[in-house]
Parts: sequence; C-alpha cells; structure tokens
Amino acid sequence: MCLVKSMDSIKTEIEELRKTLRYHSDRYYNDDAPEIEDYEYDMMMRKLKSLEDEHPEYDDPDSPTKRVGGKADNTFESVVHTVRMESLQDAFSEGELYDFEKRVLDVVSDPKYCVEPKIDGLSVSLEYENGIFVRGSTRGDGNVGEDVTGNLRVIRNIPLKLNRDIPFIEVRGEVYMPKKSFDRVIDRQLLNGEKPFKNPRNAAAGSLRQKDSAVTASRGLDIFVFNVQQVEGVTLNSHKESLDFLKELGFNTIPEYTLVDSVSKAVDVIRGIGEKRGELEYDIDGAVIKVDDFSMRAELGSTAKFPKWAIAFKYPPEEKQTKLIDIEIAVGRTGVLTPTAVLEPVHLAGTTVSRATLHNQDFINEKGVNIGDTVTVRKAGDIIPEVLCVNEKCSDGSFVYPTVCPSCGSDVVRENGEAAIRCINPDCPAQLLRNLIHFCSRDAMDIEGLGPSILETFVNNGLISKTQDIYKLTFESIAEANLEGFKEKSINNIISSVENSKKNDLGKLLFALGIRHIGAKAGSLLASHFKNIQAVMNASCDDILEIDGFGAVMAQSVVDFFKNEKSKRLVDGLIESGVNTKSLSVVTDTRFAKKTFVLTGTLPTLKRAEASEIIERFGGKTSSSVSKKTDYVLAGEEAGSKLDKAIALGIEIISEEQFMEMIK
Ligand code: NAD
Repeated sequence: MCLVKSMDSIKTEIEELRKTLRYHSDRYYNDDAPEIEDYEYDMMMRKLKSLEDEHPEYDDPDSPTKRVGGKADNTFESVVHTVRMESLQDAFSEGELYDFEKRVLDVVSDPKYCVEPKIDGLSVSLEYENGIFVRGSTRGDGNVGEDVTGNLRVIRNIPLKLNRDIPFIEVRGEVYMPKKSFDRVIDRQLLNGEKPFKNPRNAAAGSLRQKDSAVTASRGLDIFVFNVQQVEGVTLNSHKESLDFLKELGFNTIPEYTLVDSVSKAVDVIRGIGEKRGELEYDIDGAVIKVDDFSMRAELGSTAKFPKWAIAFKYPPEEKQTKLIDIEIAVGRTGVLTPTAVLEPVHLAGTTVSRATLHNQDFINEKGVNIGDTVTVRKAGDIIPEVLCVNEKCSDGSFVYPTVCPSCGSDVVRENGEAAIRCINPDCPAQLLRNLIHFCSRDAMDIEGLGPSILETFVNNGLISKTQDIYKLTFESIAEANLEGFKEKSINNIISSVENSKKNDLGKLLFALGIRHIGAKAGSLLASHFKNIQAVMNASCDDILEIDGFGAVMAQSVVDFFKNEKSKRLVDGLIESGVNTKSLSVVTDTRFAKKTFVLTGTLPTLKRAEASEIIERFGGKTSSSVSKKTDYVLAGEEAGSKLDKAIALGIEIISEEQFMEMIK
C-alpha cells in the first residue's frame, strides 16, 4: 500500500479545497446565507494553508488563503478603499497566541497590547468631511467595497455630524445586529413564511445590503467603531489614544478594551471575555489582540491579507456531553410538530444550556436519539444549540413522534416529500395564539393595539377563542374582564385599531389568514386577480395557476384551505363583522390589459417596485422570466440574461423613456 500521497492527489486536494472554499465564501459574503459553520470553514482554510505552505509549487495568487472577503457585486456603486481594509490572522489555541507574541518581539521591544471583543458583524468604512458623514462602504475584497451610505445613515448610532469639525477622517467599525433585534427580525420572518436568517451576522449583512433603506431601518442595526483608517489635522500615536479620540468625536466605540503588557495577561482577558460572551447583548466570535503603539505597528507591517500586529482568537464551538432527560413536541403556527431535547443543564459557550433542537423525525432516526441517552451538544455561531450525536445508548431504538397532536389530540400527517409532521386541525389551541399574532401583525391586518402579549392575555382570559372573535371585542367586554393595565384609553385604542383594520385591502386579509405558502406578495396577487374573497374561495387550482408566479403547491394550498369547513366559518364570521373582503385596487385605465412585462437591469429613475406598480395600475402584469408570452421587456443599465433571451425571442425591448411615453 502506498502511504505517501502522490503529487497529483495533493494538487487535486488543493484545487478541491480552493473550489469548496470559494463556493462557501460566495454563500457567506454574497448571499448572506452560509451553508456550513464558520468553524468548519476555518478548519478547511487551515488545511489549505498548510498544504500550500508544504507545496509552494502549487501557489496561486488567487487562492482563498490570499484573498479578503467577497467581491463587491453590482447592486451598489463601487468604492475604492484608499486604505486597504484588511482581515485578521486567526488563532484557535492559546499556543498560537504565544507564537504571535514571539513574532512581534522579534521586531519590537516592550509592546503593549490592546484586547477587545471581536464583534460578529460586517466591516464598514465611514468617511467624514468637515465633520459631516459623506460616505460609507462595505469591506468587499479589501480594496473595493460597496457604497451603502444611504443604508448606513439610518443606523442611529452612526453620527451624521461629528462633535468636532476636523477636515477629514475615515473610520472603521463593525455593523452588527443586537440579539434583541435579531429575535424580532426572525419572529417576523417566520410569521411571514420567509426563510429566517441563520445568525445575527448574516442578518446584519443581509440588512445592510438592502436596496430600500426603510428595510434596513426596520432591522435595528447598530455599530461599534474600532479604528481610525486615516485622519487629517490630528496626530494619533496609539490605539488607545485613537479609541478615546473616536469616543470624543461621538462614535460608539468598541464596548470594552483592556491594555496589557504581555500576551499571557491578554490570554486572561480573552478567557474572561469568553466566559461572559453568552451574556452580551451582541454576538462575538472571538477576541482581538492588537499592538497598541502605532510606530511599532508600522515596523511590523502587513501581509497581503492581514496586519502582522494583530491577531484574532476565535472561540471554538463548544461541545459537551449531557443526559437527554426528555423530548418535548411543540406545535407551531403552521401546525408543524417540532422536537426539543430537554437536557441535564450544561455550561456551554457562556450560557447554561438545558434545551437543544432535534430538528425532525428523520434527524432523530439518523442519529438514533432517544430519552435517557447521553448525547453531545454543540453551540457554535448559531443561537440554538443542537444535539450532535449519541455517546452512550441507554435506551432502545430511536424516539418516535406521537401519532396525535400533543395539543388537541387530532391525528397528525406527514405530507409526501416533506420532513415535517403536522397537525392540520385549524382550531388546535397551540396554533391559535400564533395564528392570532400573525393575523394582527403589520404586513397582515396591522392591528397595532393587539400585540403578542395582549393577545395572550385575551386568549387566557377567554376574550378570544378563535380568530373571528377579534372583531367581536367591545369596550364593555374588555372592561368587564377586569384585566390589569387595561384603562379606558388603552381599551379605546384597541377597539379603534380593530375597527380600522376592517378597511384593509383583501390582499392583507388573505395573507392574514395564514394560508400555507401564501406570503404578503402572494396575498396581494390573489386579491388583484380575483377581486373578492368569494371568487378566491371558488377558484380551482387551474384558475389560481393563471396568476403569474403561482406554482402548483401554492395553488393547492389555497384550494385546501378554503375547502376546510373551519376556514369557511372564519370567512363568514369576518364578513358578518364588516371586514372588507374586496380588492381595493380598482383598475380604471386598462391600457396594459393582458400585457406582460419583464423588468431587467437598473432603470435610470424608476425603482423596479414603482415600475411594477404602474404596470399593475394600468391592468398589466409583471413576470420574473422572459418567455414567448412576454409582451415587453423594460430594460435598464446592466441588463443581463433576460435581455439576451428577449432579443433571441424577438420580444419588444423598451427603455424607461419609452415606458414613460406609453403611460403619458
Ligand atoms: P474575520 O471575521 O475572522 O476577522 C476580520 C474582521 O473582524 C474584520 O473585518 C473586522 O471588521 C472584524 N472585527 C470585529 N471586531 C473587531 C475588532 N474589535 N477589531 C478589529 N476587527 C474586528 O475575518 P474575515 O476575513 O472578515 O472573515 C473570515 C471569516 O468569516 C472566517 O474566519 C469564517 O469564520 C467566516 N466565513 C464563514 C463562511 C461559512 O461558510 N460559514 C464562509 C466565509 C467566511
């Protein structure tokens, strides 16, 4: 047997690793949707680095080991960074930190080090001229980033005007999503049937790279500033001095930093930060050690990717063994049964963990998990800990889901091709509160007075036992319930917001009903196509499939929903209470009737949503793909493959100017 790997196989392994890392880097930086844990990514990067060091003959300047971050895409204008935005070298053991110290001491004497938490967000540069915020950009590949000034302006802690009128300063900081904002954003995404962000870092990146600043503003982002990239009119000599200066200018600087005179003291600080990381209001993925003195930094210099005067210690995902005491099954708004492992509490990544996700029945079978087993639990970058594997089997076989809903006792079903097992009884009490929260949420019926906690109180006190009861609430019924904190004014607010919601468009109501696979946009498409709820209720799958963008699963889901007697009763109840069930978008000018438009590229003045709105107002529709059925392709700058396809199919291509002529 050959124990030495052939050169060919090493070359293949290097190429494979580069390809895999590029793929994941693209998911992470450009899609904000990583598919693997950061730790896994870092370990792969390390493997590649060590193979490249051993085999310089396979060097490639484009290797992921030599590149910073992701490439700026063309959603935003490009910004060339005058001072390169570098990454940081990383360490996964304390030993590596002492190696770093040796490298530093080879060049400079008696350095002081600053130790800071490493915020898990995304790096941005902020530029100020004469004290006024003029431009902000992402890191991109370190040399070229994206201009996200508009979106940065809506982050409250980014000063638009500094406390001092200095000629020019560029600072660097980390935009992050506080844990509280993350919970709120995730709740909303789940309620809207959207795919939730995986962790606060991706949520921050996804929120900052939005085309509409109002969306960014709604996400509750924050920033910590940690560096002066360049400054005019002021001389700064050390990191500590620059942090104090940044604070004086009005920046929200890195929350805590400690100055020490050796790496062994830095290690103590890092351990301390690690212990309390679970209690912080934001996510950190490590701690950074930085040489404090700027002249020493200049002597130490940088590699192509990172400065030699700093190092990031990354806390590895913690894993611990514990006993699985119980498996609880919860029922979600859409009726999905989800299993949670109840564990003997263990201390993990700064928090006490007593529950972990088991995903679904397939996962339980694959791992062979059952009550009584000893299991390994891991808490990595993600918020929710998970059961990794069984270490000691103390039970027979795997846990099996109940065949009836633990909340209402109805039979549960597993639909073809789905991992989820669900309860399909719409009256299931476990689903009631979640349905109500969704019904009253902003994109649905927008009943501001009925937030989650008030709804819970009303359900617990018997004021609401089904959705249509919302419209039976009266001043007297609430007052007579004698609930704490409900005074005349607050009761009147509730009654008037319920009353206002009766006037909503049918689209909002259809979304509010919580039909599976029907989000806010699908609700409004159904409304403008069918015009009233009766027509939606009578529609067949084929009728619904006429709506552009609707697929068979969505159509079937609408038909199934309205087939159900309980749904019919709900609609009857709503009509009886005077809730509007008609589409409010009445088309009077139908010049685009039966015409389908496809929008591509960036239009000079109109936003895509505005153009779509105009087309729909004139009775036309928009589609996301070009086909023979397309009548016009409205193309702007940098139109891509849709334009090519339109040319190939001989479809009329119009500019914004021509479009404006058509709607005159
Ligand atoms: P990095 O995140 O490891 O470190 C550099 C960044 O730290 C800087 O850009 C800076 O903005 C930030 N930072 C936060 N607090 C700081 C502070 N106090 N001082 C200085 N800098 C601070 O490196 P990177 O190049 O930004 O990203 C690489 C990392 O991204 C990888 O190590 C990996 O964990 C993750 N990643 C994951 C995947 C995946 O698929 N899961 C893919 C690509 C990258």
